[in-house]
Amino acid sequence: MRIGHGYDAHRFASGRPLVLGGVTIPYSNGLAAHSNGDVVIHALCDALLGAAALGDIGKLFPDSSEEYRNIDSRILLREVVKCLTDADLRVSSVDVSIVTQRPRLAPHIADMVQRLSSDLALASGRLNIKATTTEGMGFTGRGEGIAVHAVVLLEE
Ligand code: MG
Repeated sequence: MRIGHGYDAHRFASGRPLVLGGVTIPYSNGLAAHSNGDVVIHALCDALLGAAALGDIGKLFPDSSEEYRNIDSRILLREVVKCLTDADLRVSSVDVSIVTQRPRLAPHIADMVQRLSSDLALASGRLNIKATTTEGMGFTGRGEGIAVHAVVLLEE
């Protein structure tokens, strides 16, 4: 087994859709990013690449590249899964924590699980996504942005 951890945070920005875990969520702000700003997928990709000792998402998909401007992060996730398959690694389980004061994400979690488990070719019972606030503390508490932690287990 191989374990990996990923962390990412993005700042809220107006005039962009909010996309988390492949799901577009109705909200006043999106997230500033070179890609579509799906911070859930970015943290997940970094956890997967970390477990595989393949570097990180910035190394694979440089934000200096026009190819990745506003790209759907699910495309990046599927690319990462391809890299794992090439390295004879299979995703065994995934746990994700989304840290944000708002919007409320509970109504969207099942959709995120369905989309990401499909991209990962993983049974939905092996993928957990949860959301928490920080009770008003810190940058997420002040509503400045969203942070995500992801932990994955890979099987050789
Ligand atoms: Mg990112």
